[in-house]
Amino acid sequence: MTTAPSTTDAVIAMRQVGTRFGDHVVHAGLDLDVQRGEIFAVIGGSGSGKSTLLREMILLQKPSEGTIQVLGVALEDITDEAALALRQRWGVMFQHGGLFGSLTVLENIGLPLREHTDLADPLIDEIAHWKLSMAGLKAEVASQYPSELSGGMMKRASLARALALDPELLFLDEPTAGLDPGSAAGVDTLVRTLRDLYGLTIVMITHDLGVVAGLCDEVMVLYGGQVMEQGSAEAIFYKPSHPYTAGLLAAVPRLEGGDAPMLAIPGAPPNMAKLPAGCPFTERCVMALPQCGTVRPVLAPAVHDEHVLRACHLNIEAVTDNLQRLKAEQGVAA
Ligand code: ADP
Ligand code: MG
Repeated sequence: MTTAPSTTDAVIAMRQVGTRFGDHVVHAGLDLDVQRGEIFAVIGGSGSGKSTLLREMILLQKPSEGTIQVLGVALEDITDEAALALRQRWGVMFQHGGLFGSLTVLENIGLPLREHTDLADPLIDEIAHWKLSMAGLKAEVASQYPSELSGGMMKRASLARALALDPELLFLDEPTAGLDPGSAAGVDTLVRTLRDLYGLTIVMITHDLGVVAGLCDEVMVLYGGQVMEQGSAEAIFYKPSHPYTAGLLAAVPRLEGGDAPMLAIPGAPPNMAKLPAGCPFTERCVMALPQCGTVRPVLAPAVHDEHVLRACHLNIEAVTDNLQRLKAEQGVAA
């Protein structure tokens, strides 16, 4: 069995994870640590490899290289028995809900309990009712089918099912995608309440900057399969240190808008089969230096804030000045 490098007591630790589908590189040399009790967001544009990353964390897919440790267990060569035990310690809310259309909401929520416990049916129903109310749904929703639910209710039902086994760790794939701002804010508040009440560790995958700003503790920014920067939500939003993040923020006039466009940066996402040897953002970076296309910047603590990790050859002042200029051009208050 591969021994993952001993790290901190991180709930999730990924080391040098690479993922390829043929020539298509989805992740390259990706490192990640999620600490207990935090709400950790992975943000990136469509196709940047967010869902694939999540699938690798929950044993639905194996990376091409690198190591992943979840709740202290190395996922490489994990036995079926250990995998089963681990799956009972986390809950997953999939991007499209993942509920079974032929089962009622209550039956969907009770399913993990039927699969993983010997509890009697009446008790399972009782627990499922409780999870339904924890997720902010009314009791009458229990007998409805997924097709009868609104987008926001579907997300809540899916969250109730993810909570069925009292997980320590919760994975949310695009928890607010497709919701109107009111429903998105509701889900947002619910997630924060759950973390505060139950001390959950939450990993969230999203392209919605508004959610991230208001909800998350730690943010990782993915582009071209690599980490551009990572730090507290406050650091990332008030002083982005990578031109990609700065571009995203400049393109989002109001963070609380909830419907922030992610790809308002000129140019197209990189061709993942032909990434430059250097930084994947080089072609779209208005500030690129000669070495940016050829020398890959190392992800390292930032000079201005050691808790921020950044992979960029530029100095932070240049990035900040450029962000101010972009905002001024777009008439956005600094
Ligand atoms: P995101 O969630 O950030 O939108 P995904 O992780 O879903 O991105 O996908 C990242 C890239 O990997 C996409 O270009 C997608 O087409 C590709 N990809 C994902 N799964 C597979 C697969 N099973 N086979 C081939 N390509 C895949
Ligand atoms: Mg996705």
